[in-house]
Amino acid sequence: MHNPALQACGIEAQYVRVQVPIGHVQEAFGLFQRQGFLGVNITIPHKFEALNAVDVIDPLARQLGAVNTLAIRDGKLLGYNTDGPGFLRSVQEAFAAEVKDLRILIIGAGGGAGRAVAVQSVLAGCKSLLLANRTESKLQPLLTELHQSSNGEATLKTCSLDADDLAKHLSEIDLIVNATSLGMKAEDNTLLPAGCLESRHLVYDMVYRANEPTHLIQQAKAVGAKQADGMCLLLHQGAISFEHWFDEPAPIEAMRAGLLSA
Ligand code: NAP
Repeated sequence: MHNPALQACGIEAQYVRVQVPIGHVQEAFGLFQRQGFLGVNITIPHKFEALNAVDVIDPLARQLGAVNTLAIRDGKLLGYNTDGPGFLRSVQEAFAAEVKDLRILIIGAGGGAGRAVAVQSVLAGCKSLLLANRTESKLQPLLTELHQSSNGEATLKTCSLDADDLAKHLSEIDLIVNATSLGMKAEDNTLLPAGCLESRHLVYDMVYRANEPTHLIQQAKAVGAKQADGMCLLLHQGAISFEHWFDEPAPIEAMRAGLLSA
């Protein structure tokens, strides 16, 4: 998506993929700087290491606990997180809704992506947040942190992944986010109990598969619920990275077309 964006904006630069071994992020950033790179996207598993390899950390990236975008400006390494803001934009685009108006369930809140969405949702003033995770012990520290970020204003709760427990809560939820890695393989089933999705639910699967919709997206379509998959997040987090690098609006349609044709 970035090469079509550079072309659309007439910027003489190229987006390339570089594989960096774990533990070498700082060294890689130094090399990129010496080679005249303008910016970098950082993906799994380097987003946490990158936090400690930049000169200046944007306050939001610090709160979200990960850096996925590096801008190299005036000899300084500036670290940002665009996953959180990308989530907000993608919710607006996919559902014509604002996170501040929603009661949200995050399944997989204990993972990196789930955590970022949880913190961003609280910062955006969501109505309520329900957190679920396979390893339930990961939820309590997150809950404590979220209470601090929300100044005690948001309603924050946890629940188990037990089907009955989830089903019991779904009547009080507007937006359901799958932030687990379940759905990446065709044989992965969803964690949502059959028959509890309603057409009024907004269903957001952070996972995307190029060839066919995930089971969760299929479940949502079957009941006529609005849905968005991880492609939407990928697009918007990329667009916000572009804006950090070039200080101009990202050419979103060129980026979308680039993603779809990739
Ligand atoms: P992560 O930190 O490894 O977290 C994985 C999460 O999935 C944890 O909550 C884990 O639970 C849960 N999980 C894994 N297998 C499970 C199972 N069999 N049953 C129930 N829960 C299970 O990974 P991540 O970085 O957060 O990424 C999570 C997903 O989001 C990935 O599929 C990734 O591709 C996607 N993602 C998409 C975008 C995008 O741009 N579209 C951006 C970021 C992430 P435990 O805590 O119990 O292990």
